[in-house]
Amino acid sequence: MAEQIEVGVIGAGLSGLACAVHLQEHGVACTLFDGAPEPGGRVRTDEQEGYLLDRGFQILLSSYPEARRVLDFDALEARPFDAGSLVQVGSKAWRVTDPWRSPVRGLGSILAPFVTLGDGLKLAKLRSGSVAASLRPGDVTAGEYLRQLGFSDELRERFFRPFFAGITLDPELGVPAHYLVSLFGWFSTGKAVLPRRGMRALPEQLAAGLPPGSVRFGEKVRSIRGQGFELEGGGQVEARALVAAVDAHAAAELFEPFESRAWSGTTTVYYAAESSPVGGPWLVLNGEGRTKGPVNHLCVPSDVQPSYAPQGSSLLSISLVGVPDDDDRSLDQAVRTQLRAWYGGAVDRWQLLRVDRIERALPRFARGETSSVRDGVHLCGDYLETPSIQGALVSGRRAAEAVLAQLGVAAGPVT
Ligand SMILES: Cc1cc2nc3c(=O)[nH]c(=O)nc-3n(C[C@H](O)[C@H](O)[C@H](O)COP(=O)(O)OP(=O)(O)OC[C@H]3O[C@@H](n4cnc5c(N)ncnc54)[C@H](O)[C@@H]3O)c2cc1C
Repeated sequence: MAEQIEVGVIGAGLSGLACAVHLQEHGVACTLFDGAPEPGGRVRTDEQEGYLLDRGFQILLSSYPEARRVLDFDALEARPFDAGSLVQVGSKAWRVTDPWRSPVRGLGSILAPFVTLGDGLKLAKLRSGSVAASLRPGDVTAGEYLRQLGFSDELRERFFRPFFAGITLDPELGVPAHYLVSLFGWFSTGKAVLPRRGMRALPEQLAAGLPPGSVRFGEKVRSIRGQGFELEGGGQVEARALVAAVDAHAAAELFEPFESRAWSGTTTVYYAAESSPVGGPWLVLNGEGRTKGPVNHLCVPSDVQPSYAPQGSSLLSISLVGVPDDDDRSLDQAVRTQLRAWYGGAVDRWQLLRVDRIERALPRFARGETSSVRDGVHLCGDYLETPSIQGALVSGRRAAEAVLAQLGVAAGPVT
């Protein structure tokens, strides 16, 4: 006998959780099934020797509109990075800061040798246009758009490339220009933050708002038939409406044929250090190009949020774009060699904590399944919107709206 439920949601990542929260807001009961032992999907945090290690470098933007809608930022006890970045060139670091946020520091960034006055004015235009959502970049890549806007080669290579490669995991900046504009707008109006309990606090907070027992962990779905599905453990479940909130790769295993997505990967190397080499809540970009070593950017999460490291020590998060073949030992050596030129011999005293290699971090924008319904099953996930927390949350809400329509429940408009 199949177990009967009202609405089934397969996947308790951010999209599945957002879907469930929205359904609950409209009085519709749903049950989530996830093969993992905890909520969050790709957004997870592990505790190791008193350090909080997010699975890969992750940040929440306080200006993500959907995050503001569904998350309680006060309860996250989130703390911000400083707006802007440090661009590291050898042992020197230059601040590139939004002059509208911080006039004195912003003026300082114009003094960086690779920022021309023309660049400063163009940055101002990009900022105001992206905040006002008045820019129409057309069907070009982010890299091409920055060239069209006339930014100097130096600023593009030393700042834009590492900054946006760190977010989109695409060093060629091949993502659509409209996404760069959205990101620039969000960075201009909000701040990158880290919750006190690490990034896991996001899915934990959403899951905690659902009725007890509505998220079933360790229950992976093997196959779907109509509105019913079979669990790997053998159980059968039949729902009135079904949502597949799994990533594009898992969706391709459940639905055939299903055009999955190409993925962008990333590697994060975590170190413990006696003190912070950065000395503040800054994102540090590799401003030296890609030939000097593997590091794209780094930060000291414990400078942003002290809970990330035991008292008296610092946690360093070093990010690479892509997943190299090197084993941990050679990767560790390559990272230290590059960072010795930035921070000197202190680098040799850092203790390697962990290397996170995440092959399927972000789905690429390129070709792939874009339909939001498949064989009567509603789909959601970041691959249907933008590869981000914002994208996952929005897509979860859209799927919930579609379920409400299917069940004939009145819902508010989707923006
Ligand atoms: C290293 C890294 C860094 C990132 N950095 C940022 C950042 O700084 N800012 C930002 O906005 N975004 C960032 N992202 C992107 C963001 O984390 C994702 O876009 C978002 O979490 C995706 O959520 P999702 O629900 O779409 O998918 P997922 O998180 O992949 O959730 C899918 C869920 O489905 C479950 N599942 C799969 N198959 C089955 C099955 N057969 N049965 C049951 N359950 C199943 C999985 O266990 C998983 O829990 C980053 C991602 C990574 C990996």
